[in-house]
Amino acid sequence: MTSASSVGADRHDIVVIGGGIAGLTIAWEAARAGRDVVVLESSAATGGMLRRGVIAGIEADLGAESFATRTSGVVDLVADARLPVQFVEPRPAGAHLAYREPWAFGALRRTRRAPLPRRALIGIPADPAAPDVARILGRDGVRRALAEPAPAHVEDEPSLADLVTAQLGEAVATRLVEPLCRSVYSHDAASVRLSALHPTLWAEYVARGSLTAAVDALAPAARAGSAVRGVEGGLWRLAAELHAAALRAGAVIRTSAPVVSVSAGVDGAVVLRGGETVHAGQVVIATGPSAAARLLDVEVAPAAPVRLTVAEITAHGLTRAPVGSGVIVAPDVPTPAKALTHVDAKWEWAAAALPPGTSVVRLSARDGDAGGLDTPADIARAIRVLTGVHVAPAEVRAHTRVDWPDAVCTPTTRALLAGAAQRHGIHLAGAIAAGTGLASVIPHARRVAADLLSHPIPHEGARHVR
Ligand SMILES: Cc1cc2nc3c(=O)[nH]c(=O)nc-3n(C[C@H](O)[C@H](O)[C@H](O)COP(=O)(O)OP(=O)(O)OC[C@H]3O[C@@H](n4cnc5c(N)ncnc54)[C@H](O)[C@@H]3O)c2cc1C
Repeated sequence: MTSASSVGADRHDIVVIGGGIAGLTIAWEAARAGRDVVVLESSAATGGMLRRGVIAGIEADLGAESFATRTSGVVDLVADARLPVQFVEPRPAGAHLAYREPWAFGALRRTRRAPLPRRALIGIPADPAAPDVARILGRDGVRRALAEPAPAHVEDEPSLADLVTAQLGEAVATRLVEPLCRSVYSHDAASVRLSALHPTLWAEYVARGSLTAAVDALAPAARAGSAVRGVEGGLWRLAAELHAAALRAGAVIRTSAPVVSVSAGVDGAVVLRGGETVHAGQVVIATGPSAAARLLDVEVAPAAPVRLTVAEITAHGLTRAPVGSGVIVAPDVPTPAKALTHVDAKWEWAAAALPPGTSVVRLSARDGDAGGLDTPADIARAIRVLTGVHVAPAEVRAHTRVDWPDAVCTPTTRALLAGAAQRHGIHLAGAIAAGTGLASVIPHARRVAADLLSHPIPHEGARHVR
């Protein structure tokens, strides 16, 4: 996805800083509307968190690998841009939860695995007494969850952890909500509010006065895991094809072009490392949160790093897909991993491409700064704990560690960035404005593009930001 394109002149209608999926979406929209748009991407390739790698001889995702179907944003973009990518459904096995036995104590507590409840949102069950929920909660946990009180927190919303504990009890909060929140949204449930994480579910809760009733109204009746789709050959292809479509539409895409400062206005100046200046009437920042904060000169808490290990495994027990498409891990399970994805158990295209007896496993670290998933022995141990399959270190044939230092944007950081951007007349796009995940990022980027295109290029002087 690198591009040899260069800037013909140093003035453009629109400059987009960051060539992730958001920046590429805006570039394609602006170019096809006839605007002169340039994308400046700091790394050697576009795509951002959609990144291609090679493991076990096949091309695989080293970042995002599926998208939520709660919006039609991804499908609409592919249709509108006529991108030659093929959507695929995950294989039907669904994902599991790894948790500690609720009914034993101390060293007697063993790690258990069970299919994730079919009807739940962020781990909140529609029916606490459903067998797939009761198996994880235990009898006391079910009884407490069924005794959901009238809501006392609508005016002064507490954290998601406190809300669920107050309404449904600690077992639901720690065994179901916490692991889902951490592995899917990269936040612990004590640091986020439901209204920010899932506004529709919050609105339904406020309207119905019950978390379980709200989930019952919204949760798909289908099995867990069917709320996502993928792309044949890997999700990274989406960014690669969008890059190509944006170029065809006339966008300029520059890679290895890190931006160090920005000012807005008709003489808006975007300065690259090395001092080169690119001028544009409208400026969009579509980077990660720390990079955006530096450009906008605003103080935010450092982003929590995300660490992913992708490994080639030749343990035969794994090819039977013992935990379906993967495992989401409760915080008290003794492992440094918060989630495991069994790539070939989840995606038919991966299974078909791999040699017989070979699996590809993704392990997401609980703590993006800590070790514990670095050596074949570490990886083998984590897979053993999470799947129950004995994997010898020698059966970990290859592994790649990918660090994502600027991936997670908290709601607080999002609000600070939005305020600073508005003050300076700069547009924000991507996960820093829309929240995590392609289902939010892509439709939001298209709305930002529509907004940019609805305004004539401004003709006033620039204001310097940094
Ligand atoms: C391991 C992992 C797994 C994920 N899995 C999923 C998933 O399965 N499904 C899902 O929907 N979402 C997933 N996500 C989240 C999803 O990938 C992101 O929400 C989305 O890709 C964000 O896109 P973006 O364009 O906003 O940002 P990014 O992809 O981060 O793009 C920002 C770009 O800006 C560039 N940049 C930074 N600083 C500068 C600068 N100063 N000058 C120029 N360029 C700069 C960066 O190099 C980068 O290319 C995952 C994320 C990670 C890390």
